[in-house]
Amino acid sequence: MSKMLYEGKAKKIFSTEKPNEIIVYYKDDATALNGLKKGTIVDKGIMNNTITSFFFELLGKNGIPHHQIRKISDREALCKKVAIIPMEVVTRNIVAGGLAKKMGVEEGYVLKRPLVEFYYKNDELGDPMINADYAEAFGFATDDQVDCMKGYALKINDILKEFLLARKLQLIDFKLEFGVDEEGKVILADEITPDTSRLWDLDTGEKLDKDRFRRDLGGVEEAYREVIRRITDQ
Ligand code: UDP
Repeated sequence: MSKMLYEGKAKKIFSTEKPNEIIVYYKDDATALNGLKKGTIVDKGIMNNTITSFFFELLGKNGIPHHQIRKISDREALCKKVAIIPMEVVTRNIVAGGLAKKMGVEEGYVLKRPLVEFYYKNDELGDPMINADYAEAFGFATDDQVDCMKGYALKINDILKEFLLARKLQLIDFKLEFGVDEEGKVILADEITPDTSRLWDLDTGEKLDKDRFRRDLGGVEEAYREVIRRITDQ
């Protein structure tokens, strides 16, 4: 019998008969502004399961180890159980969101090289920004694990950026989470979706991601559907 181990903002995690495998269930719930703004994006769970499965398969083929075993239904994916490292790894190519304000530049400013940032995953504290020293000092991850996450983040950025560009999508930024598997290896976990990335149409600059929900731009479901259409050529 499977039981719910954890419920997050966008997903639920269930146990399986195997102690080292879990089921991730994708919900339609959407939150923004650190949980202050709540809503539903119709069929988001189905779309995000499809998009994450697609990207994890693509990354796996390109040598990135990840936790997903396979998609098992519309909203569910079978995954390896990992100990999640409590850090969000954000990689940026173009300035958007919080960074534009912080650095006093316009959204759309093209960075001279990709920027990797770390945040401590803690809703109560509003996910404060940290650096590699914090990770080791607070016991979140070792220096080697941080180097490993940064290396994977940059490689994932190269793979996704090129893949998306060919489909007329600009990868502005994205957030990753990593976990430690049974063997002690750092592997990619969580999701890669328009909830956790910014994707702009290459020609028009139209936003095809969760900023449509955050900023009440409308056409949220259509944007997610368009991302699926472009990445799967459907
Ligand atoms: N992001 C995320 N979860 C978070 C914070 C950010 O998935 O808790 C993603 C977000 O969707 C974007 C990138 O990380 O693709 C950078 O977000 P930013 O720090 O600019 O967040 P903002 O200040 O715009 O909320």
